[in-house]
Amino acid sequence: MKVIDMHCDTIYEINRLQKDEQNIGLRDNHLNISLEKMKQGDYLLQNFAMFTPLKKVDPIDHVQNLIDTFYQEIDKNSDMIGIIKSYHDIEKNCQQKKMSALLTLEEGAVVNNNLAYLRNYYRLGVRMITLNWNYVNGIGYPNFPLDDENHGYHTCDTVHGLTPFGIEYVQECERLGIIIDVSHLSDAGFYDVLKYTTQPFVASHSNARQVCPHARNLDDDMILSLAKRGGVMGINFAADFLDENHHENGLSKISSMVKHISYIKNLAGVDCIGLGSDFDGIPQNLELKNASYMPELYHALQNSGFSEEEIEKIFYKNVLRVYKTVLR
Ligand SMILES: [Zn+2]
Repeated sequence: MKVIDMHCDTIYEINRLQKDEQNIGLRDNHLNISLEKMKQGDYLLQNFAMFTPLKKVDPIDHVQNLIDTFYQEIDKNSDMIGIIKSYHDIEKNCQQKKMSALLTLEEGAVVNNNLAYLRNYYRLGVRMITLNWNYVNGIGYPNFPLDDENHGYHTCDTVHGLTPFGIEYVQECERLGIIIDVSHLSDAGFYDVLKYTTQPFVASHSNARQVCPHARNLDDDMILSLAKRGGVMGINFAADFLDENHHENGLSKISSMVKHISYIKNLAGVDCIGLGSDFDGIPQNLELKNASYMPELYHALQNSGFSEEEIEKIFYKNVLRVYKTVLR
């Protein structure tokens, strides 16, 4: 079964280890995601997030280095994978028997409060942006903020959403053809995106809050609103977001992924469900150990009564639908 994964931190990890003088690349490595493992897992497309921990780095210098690492790795391995800037590029890569890579930012505030930077990221190939991470930024407010002394599972901010600059920012994303990603955004921010945009958007790596009560997950009304807009949420493999009772052993279980997928399907239909592993950014106690293990989730869904057509939608067709709409 083909796979599209909307979120991983693999380039951040490669960049970090390379700075540490380790000889590591995207093709074959010990991480969750390598091109060899993706090939074994039958990947169609992987989103590669440029993760910027805003307060720990010089954000613009950091993201420039990550984008360079991304391009160096893609260029070195152009026999296996190609970057996509439009929906048509996915088809082109398929014809050439190559996998596809989509460049995304995790932390949209790498722009000096200036939309010129946003347009330049588009010119560099960025086609999806997670508006913020766990810090308040110039665009808006996160759920589960790191700055908050009382941070915990239930820090859902229903008051502070997008800033006036954030509203301009999401509208410029839409005009350019960049997919807006609301994972990490506050609840109020989610509804601001809904109010100020018209295109389908995504929660690239968030689960169902009703199944696992964590502020990084979406509540029922948010899931229904996302589905109505034609958007997709990517199932996150982190144990923290899958199962509130995982603490005994910290294991991320495939059965928990199936639980979230079944719940979301019953609530809002199967068309809003995708995958957003968060590989190489989450604890490593994983049943689904790496990209080559993706068929195990396929079989688990089969055994839980999902039809071939439904699994196809969850594994890649729903996300492809959003890409076809937004990536012109
Ligand atoms: Zn994240």
